[in-house]
Amino acid sequence: MTLTGFQTEQFQHDLLYWFERNLRDLPWRKDRDPYKIWVSEIMLQQTRVDTVIPYFERFMQRFPSIDRLAEADLDDVIKQWEGLGYYSRARNLHAGVKEVQENYAGKVPDEPDKILEIKGIGPYTAGAILSIAYDKPEPAVDGNVMRVLSRILHIEDDIQKAKTRKRFEAAIREIISVENPSFFNQALMELGALICSPKSPKCEYCPVVGHCRAKKLGIQELLPVKGKAKPPKPLEMKVALLDRAGKILIRKRPEQGLLAGLWELPNVEGTVDQLLDHLHAAHHISGQIRGKRMEYQHTFSHLQWKMEVYEIEVDELDSSVGEVWVARSELDQYSFPVAFQKILAETNPTCK
Ligand code: SF4
Repeated sequence: MTLTGFQTEQFQHDLLYWFERNLRDLPWRKDRDPYKIWVSEIMLQQTRVDTVIPYFERFMQRFPSIDRLAEADLDDVIKQWEGLGYYSRARNLHAGVKEVQENYAGKVPDEPDKILEIKGIGPYTAGAILSIAYDKPEPAVDGNVMRVLSRILHIEDDIQKAKTRKRFEAAIREIISVENPSFFNQALMELGALICSPKSPKCEYCPVVGHCRAKKLGIQELLPVKGKAKPPKPLEMKVALLDRAGKILIRKRPEQGLLAGLWELPNVEGTVDQLLDHLHAAHHISGQIRGKRMEYQHTFSHLQWKMEVYEIEVDELDSSVGEVWVARSELDQYSFPVAFQKILAETNPTCK
């Protein structure tokens, strides 16, 4: 890619002029607190702005500062995150904030190498915090920014490939406004959100249409180049609904990995017999299948849970660790992944 002939100064001017007149009134834009920018950027990953706003406001009421979040119980943090999904974001945010409290006296560092060492802060979030809160001319490249820039600068590299981000970062370093990197990065994000949408970009309203190489070639809708992502891997799961005198059995997921630390119904990947074997081995429960209660499918980016839920009659029970029998009315005190929330709601006799 060459920037020969690209009118960088005029581009910066046109972009920033538009942004100053069109920026949306978002709660994390009320000041330039690096903590708020950090939380908002983590919440916004894979999640729409409209969805994030109420979560962000509740989160800030509950944890208004780095100190308050660092001192909070992880279960409480996860509870506030419930429904936003991708829970490792909340766990990493909590761990990262603790690091900042312990190692930097509660102040988010403003140097790229230090901020990148903090748990949960990758190059995009680091660039967003450094530019928006600290006015450092650092790139903040996510999928939206890659889409917009692939069109403006006519970059045909596959944005699914990890090394492509580096190329976009290098391009931004050449065109970013050193006077106002905060608005420059936010303007690119805003342009992607409001005008340069994935399908049917609204070029007729675009403030930088005169600079856009893809538009000149009429290929804007063919960009960005995106190789095929792998389809999510299906996982056949059998889930146990064990009900004893109105209390059901739940257990906590492991502290590492997918949906770490959330609660779930006992389950296995495999057959119904394997579910019964598992209940016996892991929970010292002997039982028999009363019947299939429902089926449910939940798709993650890389995985698809195909869940069959079975009611199980308990014959014999021994006490064991890591599980809880809980009344339906008290389930809201526990954080469940969306898939199990749906199953619990669907199988709740009082909701019928
Ligand atoms: S002219 Fe069209 S394709 Fe180019 S940046 Fe603007 S909206 Fe996107």
